[in-house]
Amino acid sequence: MDWRAIDRYILLSALVFLAPACFGISLWVTNVLAPEYLNQSLVPYMLWMYGIHILVLIGFIVEAFHRRHYADDWPFFESFIIGSYIVVILISGYLTGSHFTEGLLLIFLGVNITCTLANVNKIRFCYWLVMPTLLVMGIADFIPSVPYAILLEKPPILPDGHPVLGWLIVRGLIVFILTLLIYLCILAMKRWTERESLYQEMSTIDGLTRLSNRNFFINRGEEEIERAQKQHAHPMSPLACIMIDLDHFKRINDQWGHHAGDEVLVAASKIMMNNARRNDEVGRYGGEEFAILLPNTNIKTAERIAERLRVKISETQVMVDGEIIKVTASFGVACYPSDGVSGMGDLLKTADKALYEAKETGRNKVVVACCSDKK
Ligand code: GH3
Ligand code: MG
Ligand code: MG
Repeated sequence: MDWRAIDRYILLSALVFLAPACFGISLWVTNVLAPEYLNQSLVPYMLWMYGIHILVLIGFIVEAFHRRHYADDWPFFESFIIGSYIVVILISGYLTGSHFTEGLLLIFLGVNITCTLANVNKIRFCYWLVMPTLLVMGIADFIPSVPYAILLEKPPILPDGHPVLGWLIVRGLIVFILTLLIYLCILAMKRWTERESLYQEMSTIDGLTRLSNRNFFINRGEEEIERAQKQHAHPMSPLACIMIDLDHFKRINDQWGHHAGDEVLVAASKIMMNNARRNDEVGRYGGEEFAILLPNTNIKTAERIAERLRVKISETQVMVDGEIIKVTASFGVACYPSDGVSGMGDLLKTADKALYEAKETGRNKVVVACCSDKK
């Protein structure tokens, strides 16, 4: 989530608010409809506990709204929300003897929701605190001297064997609250994964051409080289790199405008993409510079591919505002492993040197780095 921490805690406290509200209302309804089923010496304390929890949460929320004007975070608020939520659930679960079913379910949901809204380390800490507690409570259920479900005076079953109406209403209310929590949880997760994939895309793809950006391209190259080194194949499977720079691109911008330049960049990118093989990586290396990584490709094949691309780009006519724009490109080709090329940095540098030579010696041509393949 990309919200400020304090805003996330306000939402979190509103969700956690549902726990004492749900348990408190359930208890109150049961007490009105069927008081004889409840241990009356405990009911006032529990109603007070839920009431105080609700009031303190409201107090925190009001204070957080005040603080959010000058502070981004309030870790104590976060700890209180998580801690009090767990305490209320454990106490309620123990007193009604439903700690395993409701307790586990609520904690599971709580962990899911809070993970997206709060500090994962705090959640992990609470999780490891709660799981053994639940286990101890479960074992204690089988020890006769430890009282079980002490809030319930007698099982919520009528003499004719049917469940008590109030008990059914309470269960219905809990199911309603749980459904609401599940819905909110799914909503938060969905939004979270959407944002994740958006950030992922923004950090790896160039917005204009939709090609890989420079960082992603270099990382992919490093991975490919690492893979080639690990394979220990003899001879090592080669990795070729083609650097491409559009010729006199500035003139296109100057003559037809920046938007026309953009169209030409997109058209050139499409040609490269459409001619790439499945495993090739086509990246936008800089403004009007591109690079293609060709795994398992030797320098001769890479040269042929570069030459084919050169011809295709030079033959392409880009139509902008009813005018035809033509462009050419220069190419530098290098290969790993070869003399002086022992990593991704060397591969790019060598391909760039070859590209520079292509520019120096007339443009619209392919130059292969003068390095012999290592055997
Ligand atoms: P050379 O043949 O020597 O490569 O000449 P050139 O004009 O292509 O090279 P130069 O480096 O002088 O100019 C590159 C131009 O590319 C300058 C810059 O404004 C333009 N450019 C870079 N990124 C973009 C972009 O995203 N869109 C547009 N329209 N132009 C861009
Ligand atoms: Mg250029
Ligand atoms: Mg350039």
